[in-house]
Amino acid sequence: ATPTAIMVGIGKGAENNILIKDAESLELGYKVNAVILDKTGTITEGKPLVTDILWKDKIENQIEYQQILLAIEAQSEHPLADAVVKLLKEENIEQAEIDSFESIIGKGVKAQTENGAKYFVGNHKLMLEKNIQIDGSLMKTAEGLEDQAKTVIFFGDEKQVLAILAIADKIKETSKMAIATLQERGIEVYMLTGDNNKTASAVAKQVGITNYQGEVMPSDKAAFVEKLQADGKIVAMVGDGINDSHALAQANVSIAMGRGSDIAMDVAKMTLITSDLQSIPKALELSKRTVLGIR
Ligand code: ADP
Ligand code: MG
Repeated sequence: ATPTAIMVGIGKGAENNILIKDAESLELGYKVNAVILDKTGTITEGKPLVTDILWKDKIENQIEYQQILLAIEAQSEHPLADAVVKLLKEENIEQAEIDSFESIIGKGVKAQTENGAKYFVGNHKLMLEKNIQIDGSLMKTAEGLEDQAKTVIFFGDEKQVLAILAIADKIKETSKMAIATLQERGIEVYMLTGDNNKTASAVAKQVGITNYQGEVMPSDKAAFVEKLQADGKIVAMVGDGINDSHALAQANVSIAMGRGSDIAMDVAKMTLITSDLQSIPKALELSKRTVLGIR
């Protein structure tokens, strides 16, 4: 496309809440035949709410643990952590002091209090990996909650799970329609998520995606993009989080959510300001018009 056509295209994009950083993605968009969507914050609102919190039986110092949980999640940037913080603040829980804090990619977070006690918040994988024991009945409850498309996170010390929290994240109203539009145009749509397989399956079903994977590590998201590219696909990656940045960098066309993390927006060449997935088919269409010189 001519420089003028590109300028016009970028301008049209801006009018439609699509921020386009470079000419290349505008010229490549129309060739995209595979779109990979992240789940949390991309297909879903990314505004999760805690629906259930269940503590292990006969726990002493529950308040103290609540304060520690609040302190840990207050330091995390994960949307799930925000939900936990919101709930505990509503319950007027005060924040404990913590000494160190560390993110464990794709699994959760780890923190240490002043007295050297270690705590973990994250998915079941993290509990297994750290050999943190979980009460049988609590685990049964967790599985039941996951069947309801809720994400369950676990809070434990080094020895045992102290509590489980179920978190629900609403699917954006327009996600299903946007996905159907892409599929009607012959574009393959995939969903990748770090969330557990049960929740992944429940969400994928609700939005009409049959190609999905749960429990995907951030590095695996990038590898997945590469695999599709090796199969000759022109891949658009759509994500909102730090955990999507490698995959965004690897994709032919990279699209971030305007309501997502700054890192995702920095890496991606396009940003959907309103975070509405219907802007994806619009952006691809805009590319086609730009390249073909249609105003
Ligand atoms: P996604 O955003 O696709 O769910 P992530 O890699 O960011 O993928 O996270 C994977 C999983 O790790 C989450 O679904 C959650 O179970 C767990 N996790 C990550 N960070 C936190 C946190 N701060 N608090 C609780 N759980 C977390
Ligand atoms: Mg996400």
